[in-house]
Amino acid sequence: MNRLLDRLWRWVDTLVAAITTSYDWVQSTVTERLRATLRVGLGQPLTDEQYRRTLNTAVGQYQRWLRRLVRTLNTRTPNTVREAFATLRADLDITFPRTVEQELANLITATHTRIVDNHLEVRRLIRRVLATNPQTPAERQAAVDRILRQAEREGYDLHTVDSRGRRIPLNVWARRAVDGHAANVALSAYQRAMQASGLDLVRVSSHDGTCPKCAPWQGRVLSLNGTTDGYPTLAQARAGGLFHISCRHGLTPTTQ
Ligand SMILES: [Zn+2]
Repeated sequence: MNRLLDRLWRWVDTLVAAITTSYDWVQSTVTERLRATLRVGLGQPLTDEQYRRTLNTAVGQYQRWLRRLVRTLNTRTPNTVREAFATLRADLDITFPRTVEQELANLITATHTRIVDNHLEVRRLIRRVLATNPQTPAERQAAVDRILRQAEREGYDLHTVDSRGRRIPLNVWARRAVDGHAANVALSAYQRAMQASGLDLVRVSSHDGTCPKCAPWQGRVLSLNGTTDGYPTLAQARAGGLFHISCRHGLTPTTQ
């Protein structure tokens, strides 16, 4: 029981890494492809009409490529999550209802529409290029370079908006979402296992250089399920900052 939470944290880290790898790849691939789409037709002696048609075809292809990418992700992400829960069952004999893994998969796949919508961003950038009415290959090259630079400053990459209205790159968001959700799973598995062993009190581990959110909780004794009077509960500690995103503090059973 002493090492159970450590093992659960390793499970969380493995799942977070598996998901993060996919979405880091998506982020960089989409950015590359977006830039390539905007550069189509550069350096070729095209008439204005040919240039516009070339860009139009390229953005249509980009949109189809995004749809295929999302179809792949819609399969891959739930598979990654399912495999993680299968590992939890096989290695630690911890079982959750299917709805728990589905919730996590749905949370991530719900953001996939943002990936398909990225073609709208490219169309907007193309309109900005064409609005400068570039006629020669050199003018087109300069217009595309300028607008890509501006877009980069504004952050055209895939993002989602948090509750405070801040733009968060999709891969960063996916890492946080999975970390938060999987940590809930790990802690509730730990609570259940402890309860089954008739244990309620745990001591929070102490580390040098801990973050200010966890500092007040280090070394304190908590009641996991609120069944022992006189101690803050795990739920209260979490509401007070313990086990924030990517926090890996430990818990050890104790008698007081
Ligand atoms: Zn911590």
